[in-house]
Amino acid sequence: MAIRKIARMGHPILRQKARELTLQEIRSPDFDRLLHDMVETMEEYGGIGLAAPQIHEPIAVAIIDYQDDESRYEGSGVQQKGEEGEGERSIDLSVFINPKITVLDETLQGFWEGCLSVPELRGLVYRPRKIQVDYINLKGKPQKIIAEGFLATVFQHELDHLDATLFVDRVVPVPGKSTLAFTTEYSKYLVPEAEDEIGELDD
Ligand code: ZN
Repeated sequence: MAIRKIARMGHPILRQKARELTLQEIRSPDFDRLLHDMVETMEEYGGIGLAAPQIHEPIAVAIIDYQDDESRYEGSGVQQKGEEGEGERSIDLSVFINPKITVLDETLQGFWEGCLSVPELRGLVYRPRKIQVDYINLKGKPQKIIAEGFLATVFQHELDHLDATLFVDRVVPVPGKSTLAFTTEYSKYLVPEAEDEIGELDD
């Protein structure tokens, strides 16, 4: 295992679309090592999610470490290494391979987002509030998860990385209002306002 260097905004790898993995690749020892590196890197930097392009690997895989009791987790999750989940449960740490998003509720919700690849910045991003993610798990099986609320934003942020998109691309300027801020100024001036209507994502 190794802590990997995080690609920062401006690095071309973050603007390259990730390619899908084959079943053979998913079952390879190299992929296993890569996942362990992703987990270790995410934990080192305190993220709640990490996409492979962020550690200079242009492949379609993301990990998410976020618990949300309201979200339905269908089928096999990945609790560390591939246990079958039963019924509804929250995600502990999950791996999403070749994921695809379908919007289930287009109603927009706003969260202040951060990103390990865009350090020291926070941006207010509005995204659909409910989505379905179809993906392949570590065993190579197709799975789906329905996420809403904050977790829906987490998924969309992470999967955007696989599509060469950063949260700053989705920050909409509003005259007279802060929608993009440094973390220090965000904490000083914007958190009280944010608490009522919007949450916070720091990955
Ligand atoms: Zn990010």
